[in-house]
Amino acid sequence: MSDIRVSLDELRELLQRILTANGMASANAAVIAGRIVAAERDGSPSHGLIRLPGYLSSLKSGWVDGRATPVVEDPAPGLVAVDARNGFAQPALAAGLAPLLAKTRSNGVAALLIRNSHHFSALWPDVEPIAEAGFIAFAFVNARSRVMPWGGTKKLFGTNPMAFACPRRSGPPLVWDQASSIRAQGDVLVMAKRGESLPPGIGFDAEGNPTTDPKAVLDGGSIAPFGGHKGSSIALMVELMAAALTGGRFGFEDASAAIPGAQTSNAGEAILAIDPQRVAGEAFLDRAELLLQRLAGDGEARLPGDRRYAHRAIAIAEGLRIPRQDHDDLLALARPS
Ligand code: NDP
Repeated sequence: MSDIRVSLDELRELLQRILTANGMASANAAVIAGRIVAAERDGSPSHGLIRLPGYLSSLKSGWVDGRATPVVEDPAPGLVAVDARNGFAQPALAAGLAPLLAKTRSNGVAALLIRNSHHFSALWPDVEPIAEAGFIAFAFVNARSRVMPWGGTKKLFGTNPMAFACPRRSGPPLVWDQASSIRAQGDVLVMAKRGESLPPGIGFDAEGNPTTDPKAVLDGGSIAPFGGHKGSSIALMVELMAAALTGGRFGFEDASAAIPGAQTSNAGEAILAIDPQRVAGEAFLDRAELLLQRLAGDGEARLPGDRRYAHRAIAIAEGLRIPRQDHDDLLALARPS
């Protein structure tokens, strides 16, 4: 069957209808639909349309509350806390973003601590707007256990991503966003769907034996941390930042396995924002540019985020191509049952 071309707005509107038809409040659905479209637009399919069934089954199971209204708290001059009320992390972030930026502006540094939230997406959209506002940002998200600690025998950490964003003199910010596992769960999902094998050294089955079968990894197995013991320590830090610091749950405390259809983790997210101009002044942007241009001009090296931004420019100009059958399936999901 052929592909169909859709504009970003058409896809966003369609996804919003699907999410609201499946019980999500329209304000929350607008945020989540925007995230799915942003992943497709930026060439990150592991967190795009492939995640929609997971969102819907998690909603349908009652595990995540699509109608939750996040509650923003003001615990200290440099802190914003948000109780996501068992909803998705992104509406909670949307609610806490303005106070985070205001506190960063007045203090030079501030943190946003989100608990009782489900994060089922990429992290770069969480930090990009903070850098667009002129601040450096770090984000930490934990998730249900899927990663075997270095030297361990069973899964303990989530794939625990971390993202960093830095403003630039002109153009979009420098952003990197990566799992602390050697491969993101979304990649394993994509490979399982395509019937591909994992390279050796990435996955373990439910008994902890090495496997190249992505389905064995998804079916109770685990993934190795990136970079051996170093990635394992990063996963540990992310778990402490996103769960212990926010008042959220550790990956190993996640109870979703007992709920049929639940695919998200009830965990947490911590975001740290710093105003780079408080000490370095205007020179910060020039100093950053000096380093980034040296890096980008060296052999095959490129800046993290460049691949996404290139995809984004094409998708904004031309829209997205998706298989006609997938589009038909989306239209069917949007019909009220
Ligand atoms: P990748 O390994 O694909 O990429 C990690 C980062 O490295 C990106 O910023 C990427 O930029 C950059 N990069 C890749 N190749 C190069 C290169 N040759 N030179 C310079 N930079 C490069 O990411 P992961 O597989 O680790 O994670 C994928 C996604 O999964 C992330 O968005 C993450 O947030 C998400 N995730 C979400 C979880 C959740 O619970 N919500 C859990 C775990 C992961 P670019 O994009 O431009 O290629």
